[in-house]
Amino acid sequence: MFGRAPKKSDSTRYYEILGVSKNASQDDLKKAYRKAAIKNHPDKGGDPEKFKELAQAYEVLSDPEKREIYDQYGEEALKEGMGGGGAGHNPFDIFESFFGGNPFGGGGSRGRRQRRGEDVVHPLKVSLEDLYLGTSKKLSLTRNVICSKCNGKGSKSGESMKCTGCQGSGMKVSIRQLGPSMIQQMQHPCNECKGTGETISDKDRCPQCKGEKIVPEKKVLEVIVEKGMQNGQKITFPGEADEAPDTVTGDIVFVLQQKEHPKFKRKGDDLFVEHTLPLTEALCGFQFVLTHLDGRQLLIKSNPGEAVKPDSFKAINDEGMPMYRRPFMKGKLYIHFTVDFPDSLTPDQVKAIETILPRPSSQLTDMELDECEETTLHDVNIEEEMRRKQQAREEAYDEDEEMPHGGQRVQCAQQ
Ligand SMILES: [Zn+2]
Ligand SMILES: [Zn+2]
Repeated sequence: MFGRAPKKSDSTRYYEILGVSKNASQDDLKKAYRKAAIKNHPDKGGDPEKFKELAQAYEVLSDPEKREIYDQYGEEALKEGMGGGGAGHNPFDIFESFFGGNPFGGGGSRGRRQRRGEDVVHPLKVSLEDLYLGTSKKLSLTRNVICSKCNGKGSKSGESMKCTGCQGSGMKVSIRQLGPSMIQQMQHPCNECKGTGETISDKDRCPQCKGEKIVPEKKVLEVIVEKGMQNGQKITFPGEADEAPDTVTGDIVFVLQQKEHPKFKRKGDDLFVEHTLPLTEALCGFQFVLTHLDGRQLLIKSNPGEAVKPDSFKAINDEGMPMYRRPFMKGKLYIHFTVDFPDSLTPDQVKAIETILPRPSSQLTDMELDECEETTLHDVNIEEEMRRKQQAREEAYDEDEEMPHGGQRVQCAQQ
C-alpha cells in the first residue's frame, strides 16, 4: 500500500521523524532533536519542511501530556485540540527555546525572534550658553548588565531546568467550569518561574547574580552637546540601556531641554533680545553694550540722524546661534525696541518741542470747532476692560443655558 503515505500508523510518524523508538526516553528525544535540528536548520541550508516536521514532532513528544494523547489517538487528536493545540507553533521558536538562543551565533537568527529591550529616555537640562558654545556633560547612571560570572545563564552549571509548573512554556492554563457543558480556558504567566519557563535549583544558582542573570553596574556617560543643538534634540547612546538575556539592548536617549535665558530668546538659528529706549534716545540716537552668550561685549548704536519707532525690530547679521554641524555659520541677532515715553510734559517743554518739531499744518478752524461737541478722554486699562466684558458675556450665556439653581458654575480661568 503506497497510496496515502503518512497515514501508516498514525502514532509512530513523529518517532520516525526523530529516528527514535516508541519507548525513547526524554533524553533520547532531546539528543535526537538536537542532532537533526542542527543538521536540517534552514540557516545551514537544510530543508525547511523537514525542519518544521522535526520541531513539530519534538514539541509533541517532549511534552508528556501531548505524547500520551499522541500515542493513544495519533496526530489527528492533537490537531483537534485535545492536547491544547498540537500544531502551528513556529519551528524557530521551538528550536531557539531548545538551545536557549541561536547556536550558530553572530546574530544569525536574522533578528527574527529576539526581543528588543526598551530605550531609556532622560531629559538633560542645558543653558542657552551651552547650546551656543557647545559643552560636554558627564553623567553617572546605573544599569543592568548580563552577569559576567554565569554569562546570563543564572546558574553555575549553565543549565536550567524546565519549570515543572508550566512544562517550560512560561504560561499556565486554568480551566473553569462555567456550566454543565461550558468551560472557560484562561492563560496566564506561570507564577513559579515568572513566565520564563525555567527554574534554577538553589544549589546551582550563580553566586554573583543569585540566579537573576543580570547585575547592576555603574556607568559614566559623556554627553557631547554640540554647538547649535536645539531644545528637544536627542543624543543617543545605542545599546547602552539595560541588558537582559535573549534581548537586543535598547538605547539610552538624552533629550535636551533648554533652560529659559533671562535676556535672549531663541527661534531656530536666530536670537532675540528686548531693549527699551528713553524717548530722547529713540529720537536723538543711542548706543549701548550687550554682553553676548560667549561673554563678548557688543557695542550697539544707531545710525546718525535715525529715529527708532516703538515696537520696531533691527537685526545684526552673524550674531545669532551657530548652526548645528556648521558652527562657523550663524543666524541673526534681532533687537526689539520699546520706546519709553514721558507720562506728562510741562507747558515749557511743549513749547520747546513745538519749536523744533512743528505741528502739521491742518489745524481746525474756529468755524469747524463750533460745530463739534466737546468730549473728555480718560485713562483705561484696555486688557482689563476687555476681560471684564468677555466675562459678562459668558455669564449672560450661562444664564440662557437654564442652569438649575445651585448648580455649579465653572468659570473660565483666564490669565
Ligand atoms: Zn513555570
Ligand atoms: Zn550570574
